[in-house]
Amino acid sequence: MTKNLENPHPIDSLLCENAIPSVWCPGCGIGIVVNAFLETLGKIDADLDKICVVSGIGCTGKITNYLKLNCHNSSDGNAVKYATELKLKNPELNVIVFLNDTDFIVSKAEDFINAGKNKVAIRVIYINNFIYIITNHKALPVTPFIRTIDENTELPFNIPHLAKSCGAQYVARWTPLHIRRLKYSMLDALQKPGFSVVEVISPCLMYFATDGKIGKTIDRMKFFQDNTVIKHNEPTENLDIRNQDEIIIGNFVDIS
Ligand code: SF4
Repeated sequence: MTKNLENPHPIDSLLCENAIPSVWCPGCGIGIVVNAFLETLGKIDADLDKICVVSGIGCTGKITNYLKLNCHNSSDGNAVKYATELKLKNPELNVIVFLNDTDFIVSKAEDFINAGKNKVAIRVIYINNFIYIITNHKALPVTPFIRTIDENTELPFNIPHLAKSCGAQYVARWTPLHIRRLKYSMLDALQKPGFSVVEVISPCLMYFATDGKIGKTIDRMKFFQDNTVIKHNEPTENLDIRNQDEIIIGNFVDIS
């Protein structure tokens, strides 16, 4: 990969160029979310010394490998716990945690709940890629992508509702298709004085695209186009994607 020195990309300075290209599959939503995050950092004119990014397990956990920021990878399932302690000990830091569903459901959901209940001002960017099937074979997600899986399934949480229930000040949900709106939500989340959660519905392509369920990578974007509906301020109890023919996305909680 050759760097264009005359016309650098706006986020070049925030990326570890030696680590690129990334391990992520072409078309994976993780890269899109990272790009949105870095562009959002530029918009708030953040003091980069005060930004700290924490990541956890699996592909989402790799995010910290690529950032020229203060980073910590917590591959033992303690990402939210680490972020919480970091924030409590260093209130001046802006702490952002990237999670996926394996971090959250298989490992330490209670850390997330406690952070919300205690109103710890960390920002959780939860990339919901529905991969916890890999680490917990009894837990199969039922999403619009794979509705036909057997009935005896343990199901994913309604993340926005859980976030609101445990005290989040800001809650939103988008997909990798809704990049501009996602950036606005990140902008809001990064500036809130309380616990903030932005969920990104982004099923792993390895499991939900390449096996033909929704076709090729580009088909997934069409899927998001055809199967999402924006409903700002929708009550979070209505956001369980198991019960929806269309995935409701938008900004749901914003307590100033
Ligand atoms: S598509 Fe799946 S396997 Fe590939 S980088 Fe994304 S989450 Fe990982």
